[in-house]
Amino acid sequence: MAINWTDVQIEQIVASVMSQLKGESPAIKDEYNGAGYNGKKYIGVFEDMKDAIDAAESGYKAIRAMSLEEREKIIAVIRELCRKEAPTMARLGVDETKMGRVDHKTAKHMLVADKTPGTADIVAQVKTGDYGLTLTEMAPFGVVGSITPSTNPSETVICNSIGMIAAGNGVVFNPHPNAIATSNYAIDLVNRASAMAGGPRVLVSSVVKPTLDSANVMYKDPRIKLLVCTGGPGVVKSVLSSGKKAIGAGAGNPPVIVDDTADIRKAGKDIIDGCTFDNNLPCIAEKEVFAFASIADELIDAMRANGAYLISRSDADTLARVVLVEKTNPKTGISSKIVNRDCVGRDAKVLLEKIGISVGDEVRCIICETDFEHDFVQHELMMPILPIVRVKDIDQAIDLAVRAEHGNRHTAHMHSKNIDNLTRFARAVETTIFVKNAPSYAGIGFGGEGHTTFTIAGPTGEGITSAKSFTRLRRCVLAESFRII
Ligand code: NAD
Repeated sequence: MAINWTDVQIEQIVASVMSQLKGESPAIKDEYNGAGYNGKKYIGVFEDMKDAIDAAESGYKAIRAMSLEEREKIIAVIRELCRKEAPTMARLGVDETKMGRVDHKTAKHMLVADKTPGTADIVAQVKTGDYGLTLTEMAPFGVVGSITPSTNPSETVICNSIGMIAAGNGVVFNPHPNAIATSNYAIDLVNRASAMAGGPRVLVSSVVKPTLDSANVMYKDPRIKLLVCTGGPGVVKSVLSSGKKAIGAGAGNPPVIVDDTADIRKAGKDIIDGCTFDNNLPCIAEKEVFAFASIADELIDAMRANGAYLISRSDADTLARVVLVEKTNPKTGISSKIVNRDCVGRDAKVLLEKIGISVGDEVRCIICETDFEHDFVQHELMMPILPIVRVKDIDQAIDLAVRAEHGNRHTAHMHSKNIDNLTRFARAVETTIFVKNAPSYAGIGFGGEGHTTFTIAGPTGEGITSAKSFTRLRRCVLAESFRII
């Protein structure tokens, strides 16, 4: 019997065969989209942004009526589901965005489940004196509008949800268009957790097809009292121009200095471990190295012993022409280089194949020696490519590293045992996160002390955000009483 395939069916079959040839898992792609999975609709995901805001507002009203204990119960179930479903979200994230690594994304979800602060972060302050007692409490804003990135999609949704719910807010998300299924899976997870813990069926919300237009609806809706944006410079600028209170977590380009007092073998391993975490997608990951010339060869050897592949300067130039593309701004006619999205978060092996170099799976990072002006130093690539610039002394290292960070004041790293050098660089670079003698991820609580976040708010100053960042302070004064001493 002859089968009459439609064009759409043929396209689907070709896409499925192509993805199987590439080793991807079509099952996940077939079952998940922005609206649901396995034939089951995501809870809290709406066609229209207005409806999503209505739902988040109802969520806010429900939270306001809850005790802290009830909020904490919901958060406990979110943590539990996040741990249980971490591998699913990690795999979905890689399949949908084509970026990052399943094992590292799984670890990132575990980190969010374990180290995102809940209601314990909300602590009131009291002042007593001759005039009585004044109480300052951390109150919710109301409904928060949250814009999330493609690089840590479900991690950011869950981390923000925990903090924002702990603070008593409702939340509506406008996730990244390249990571809708993954982000909306996480929104559904939060809502399932709420229902399981006795909370409302829809506590947080989102839309099936987030766009810049749906973000604009969010900006303009008077019910949205706080905007929280995690992403590149364009979107951070747009929320800061919205006329609303906004928290902006923007781009970085973290430099690393290695001086001649460092434990070079450890530095080489730590830098490659940090740089290759989730294929360099985290905004805190090592992006360029300034190494004292006296130890540079030893450092490169230590990196090569830990999965780095050294390419020549001419291969670095060829690779730069692949991973960066020229784009002309239609309004100004000015052209500039931007990262090639097809290369972001890809395996080192895949990137090397693009310039005709074939390597095994043991290669996890591409390293090369460049000068300071090289595109690899100047652009935030978010790929496992690490340029190394030789410097003569600490003065030159700090000068170049500060310039490479481009004033983002985001993250910087240093490997050294010289406390004067460490202190000088930390002071000069003024970053939100400064990691000494460890991989970059120690800065967000992974093998380092302190809580975690995937929203590091440098431009607006909240830093390593947590529940208290999403609150507004309210004062309550009782004059001439309640000072009992
Ligand atoms: P991106 O900038 O491409 O997108 C972020 C989100 O903003 C998406 O939802 C996108 O659709 C939306 N968007 C973009 N322009 C917009 C506009 N004008 N108005 C409204 N919405 C808009 O981000 P990405 O590629 O997913 O993430 C990578 C970037 O984000 C990197 O620069 C990285 O350093 C940064 N980042 C920062 C942090 C942090 O905590 N500081 C965390 C993760 C990522």
